[in-house]
Amino acid sequence: MSELKPKIKKPRGVARLIGGKCIACGARCQSSCPVNCIEMTDSGEPIIEEAKCIGCQKCVKICPAVAVEMFFTAEEMQILAELAVSSQPAEEEIDPEAAALAIKLSAYRGVWVFVEQTEGEPAKVSWELLGVGANLAEKLGVELCALIVGENVEHLCHEAFAHGATKAYLLDAPVYKHYRTEPYVEGCCHLIEKYKPEVILMGATGMGRDLAGAIATRVATGLTADCTGLAIDDKRNLMQTRPAFGGNIMATIMCDKYRPQMSTVRPNVMPMPERKNGAEGIIIRDPFTVSEESVLTKVIEIIRDSHSKGAVDITGAEFIISGGRGMMGPENFAILQELADELGGVVGASRSAVDAGWMPGDRQVGQTGKTVRPKIYIACGISGAIQHLVGMQDSDMVIAINRDSSAPIFEVATYGIVGDLFQVVPAITRKIREMKQKN
Ligand SMILES: Cc1cc2nc3c(=O)[nH]c(=O)nc-3n(C[C@H](O)[C@H](O)[C@H](O)COP(=O)(O)OP(=O)(O)OC[C@H]3O[C@@H](n4cnc5c(N)ncnc54)[C@H](O)[C@@H]3O)c2cc1C
Repeated sequence: MSELKPKIKKPRGVARLIGGKCIACGARCQSSCPVNCIEMTDSGEPIIEEAKCIGCQKCVKICPAVAVEMFFTAEEMQILAELAVSSQPAEEEIDPEAAALAIKLSAYRGVWVFVEQTEGEPAKVSWELLGVGANLAEKLGVELCALIVGENVEHLCHEAFAHGATKAYLLDAPVYKHYRTEPYVEGCCHLIEKYKPEVILMGATGMGRDLAGAIATRVATGLTADCTGLAIDDKRNLMQTRPAFGGNIMATIMCDKYRPQMSTVRPNVMPMPERKNGAEGIIIRDPFTVSEESVLTKVIEIIRDSHSKGAVDITGAEFIISGGRGMMGPENFAILQELADELGGVVGASRSAVDAGWMPGDRQVGQTGKTVRPKIYIACGISGAIQHLVGMQDSDMVIAINRDSSAPIFEVATYGIVGDLFQVVPAITRKIREMKQKN
């Protein structure tokens, strides 16, 4: 019977500077170190903290002047020599870099959703994000938390619980009354550094885009904007899917070396979760505040956009009748308006129709327009380019009217009508009027 020999662990050694060889190349060794054990002197030479070194040899390999070497003690040298002679396989190695990364990432836990508000009024997208956030939190086995910043906004914590959060981090102080980048970034980064969330979701709104970019830069992590799909892989990475290369491909982006993982999502992309009245959760009231004197931006007056008075918000509509290049001219949109009036809906447009000046820009549906999720979306004379589809394909029902039976819009349509829209649309409107008269 052969005797089983215990495996000998291969010594890793520690990095050391060889005196007089450093050329002060610009701290390449320091930037390569995965465990931050290298400091630089004023003259640009490294000081290596041997106790922290994990022997990964990154600094040795990157040094252009061969000024860093691996150092082994006499006993370690002996073991290395024995291993070489016996050719005995050393104990299976753990990749030190991967181990250091795993330790760093494991400090972050929890899915956070930033609850956007203006003068205490929440943005609907925040609740949509709590819906998708709940799925992510369940997959990760962590809490779903709301991040709420403002003045007199504690009521939003309870709204967040009703939409699925189990905890709310609250910064409530006069300095947060109106959104300003500086205090919001300070406040959010304070909470992020203190509680270390694994995932942060924000609405891809004016406020969300501004805040998310500034926070990601400050906490040195990645940010994927305008995501249309979010999921978790088997290594706890957030798979962030969004259109790329002008919308011609859907790219899945991951931030596997930094935390938190940050995404923005446009309104109406994610479904609204069911409201649970009376749901409760824990409120963490953090006293952190920023002195008003230190904030350079002052809000003097809020002037509402006068153009928005009476403007049509297609994102909130339940019925949208959209026209494309097939409408042939601006005057023909009147037949879509008639149908919209019968249904209590609004008229939307493809980018071609907007670019042609047939409809205003705020009616554009798609990648560079609005994302909509109505009960019924009727696409008239729209071919169904991917950039249009990403803005409407999650509608509950899509009805496509197109004279080209091979138009891509039919691939996402619940019902397709192959025909001339100038005949089909007025016929539908007539039929609805008849049905209404009978009732
Ligand atoms: C970076 C980028 C961003 C973009 N963003 C957007 C965006 O946000 N939204 C958007 O819509 N597009 C966007 N586009 C443009 C997009 O690629 C398409 O060019 C556009 O959607 C086409 O518009 P359309 O379907 O109205 O026109 P067309 O593609 O020309 O289609 C017209 C359709 O009308 C049909 N038709 C014609 N006459 C009739 C009739 N009498 N009856 C029935 N059917 C008829 C035709 O069969 C055809 O299918 C973007 C493109 C890029 C590169």
